[in-house]
Amino acid sequence: MASDAIGDAVRGDWFAPGSSESRPASLERADGVRLLGDDGAELILGEVGGIEVSPRVGRIPRRVRFADGSVFVTLDNDGIDRLRLTPAARRNGLVHDLERFRPRLAAFVVVVALMAFAIYRYALPVMIEVAVAVTPPVVPQMIGSAAIDTLDRVLLSETELPLDRQRDLETQFAALAQFSDLGADGYNLVFRDGGPLGPNALALPDGTVILTDQLVALADDDEMILGVLAHEIGHVELQHSLRQVYRLAGMSALIMLIAGDVGEAVEELLVEGSALLSLSYSRAHESEADRRSVELMLKAGHDPLAINRFFASIREELGVADESGMLSTHPGTAERAEALEAYAAELRGRE
Ligand SMILES: [Zn+2]
Repeated sequence: MASDAIGDAVRGDWFAPGSSESRPASLERADGVRLLGDDGAELILGEVGGIEVSPRVGRIPRRVRFADGSVFVTLDNDGIDRLRLTPAARRNGLVHDLERFRPRLAAFVVVVALMAFAIYRYALPVMIEVAVAVTPPVVPQMIGSAAIDTLDRVLLSETELPLDRQRDLETQFAALAQFSDLGADGYNLVFRDGGPLGPNALALPDGTVILTDQLVALADDDEMILGVLAHEIGHVELQHSLRQVYRLAGMSALIMLIAGDVGEAVEELLVEGSALLSLSYSRAHESEADRRSVELMLKAGHDPLAINRFFASIREELGVADESGMLSTHPGTAERAEALEAYAAELRGRE
């Protein structure tokens, strides 16, 4: 039926099976694929699926191979494309039909998006918890040593604190850390010039706590320093940076990790860029670490609100707009100070 024709007939040459001699012919699509000789005689009538069409490459002649092994050759590339003989071209013809399925397609996309969100919202946190629980000690050590290497290379430099001042702070820190879950041996306090990080303290997942010279210089008394260090102990105890690394590592790394496969791929994922993660935590993690600071300071017989005094003095000295130091990653908001005060009062009331 002429009404079923697709494209116009394409002119070219036909080579009979196994023959090197050609004869002029034209190819058309009507009731399948039809090849006609110049005299109008039907040479071949076949199914579209039974033919092979060479891909379009520049102006190289197209070859259409039929099931019987005969070949039709033509220079009319556009004409061949219009006949829609290849599966890809036929699929284009289906776009029309797909339009009708669009509402269903849209619903499908929405369902997939909702499932992805649900996985992210509900499954990922669970997987992070499982991964944290089964994490072998080598992983935090790996992340910790990679992180301090990176920090030393790009941001930090050697401390200028006198040795006796370092020893003094180490002793006070150990006296505080003995009240933590890991005990004093779980931590390693290191001193650095903070450079662009300014007055700051960072906790790495292996228990390394970095204290910058600038923070030591800014504190009016040692309790302020200890209050901040107790907060950092909280980040380590509650494995905040490990959780953060795992969140960024994503599903596939977590699955490998939970399966016990701490191979090179996982190692790379965890170590890459994990250094800077120790600089900023979520709000929830910050307030958890704050509460831990209050608890530890009280146990150690220090002012539980020393960390509040520290944030007040840092704001006073550097202004709230300070983007580089502790304030950028630990916004010392009034809300936060109030929460700390309330918690300290609550704990004291219980004593
Ligand atoms: Zn913090």
